[in-house]
Amino acid sequence: MQLDVSRAMRSPDEKFPFIHHERIAPQDIYGEEVTFDEPVVLEGRFCMSGSELTLDGTLTATAHSRCCNCLGPATVPINVPFHETFVRLDHAVEPEDDDPDRLSFTGSKVELGHLALTLAMLELPIRILCRPDCEGYKQMAPQYTGRAAEEASANPFSVLKQLIKNDQDDQEV
Ligand SMILES: [Zn+2]
Repeated sequence: MQLDVSRAMRSPDEKFPFIHHERIAPQDIYGEEVTFDEPVVLEGRFCMSGSELTLDGTLTATAHSRCCNCLGPATVPINVPFHETFVRLDHAVEPEDDDPDRLSFTGSKVELGHLALTLAMLELPIRILCRPDCEGYKQMAPQYTGRAAEEASANPFSVLKQLIKNDQDDQEV
């Protein structure tokens, strides 16, 4: 969606606060769907200086996907600061140095959809978990079921201790 920056164009070098609402469509990441609550909020200040518009602020979003470990629903809060510069291009003039990495706009409105998507996607963890210590994988691995799991988590050396004890018992016989 577009952010109206006409105020900044009328008053160069002055900073204007803004709150902008975006929508991010569901994304497919390695076959897993990630959805985003509405709205995705960009909040900060913009300032026009010459032909450059600077945007400073924070993007806040909530993403939903599936936990890598237990496959249950996982929620990821996203809070990422940003500092971006958009170059204002004249309608009549075709940009000569057409740099695809350079953010640009024409008129008095800036499209922030792509920026919001990029910021949110870069902030997603590689492995999405329902909670940091999700132990879902233990439920699927038979060696971690029941008592064995409790003992192993209580003392990771208990198995080793048991082995030593058995060894000693053997020697006593
Ligand atoms: Zn989980």
